[in-house]
Amino acid sequence: MNSGKPDRGILEVDLNECKGCGLCIDACPTHVISMSQHLNHYGYQTATYAGSGCTACGICFMVCPEPGALTVYRLDPVVLPNAQAQAAEGGMA
Ligand code: SF4
Ligand code: SF4
Repeated sequence: MNSGKPDRGILEVDLNECKGCGLCIDACPTHVISMSQHLNHYGYQTATYAGSGCTACGICFMVCPEPGALTVYRLDPVVLPNAQAQAAEGGMA
């Protein structure tokens, strides 16, 4: 699901750590995680990120029982445009 607003986060799934339990899929409030058909080297189906719509809430990370399977990156949509504007004005190298 994508609200049309800029993404606030990105989810990265380590396919070799995911055990396919599905907890992150059920827990994600924006429904941007699904189960792929991909089998990892343990033979588990793995979670996959839709590629957009993450709010960086971190809930998937908190419910995942496999350390290192999920990484949530928080994006700051305010900082980047400001930095670009300053650079355009010669304020940044
Ligand atoms: S951080 Fe939140 S919105 Fe992003 S994928 Fe995880 S549960 Fe979904
Ligand atoms: S909660 Fe963790 S182990 Fe379970 S499907 Fe999601 S990423 Fe894989």
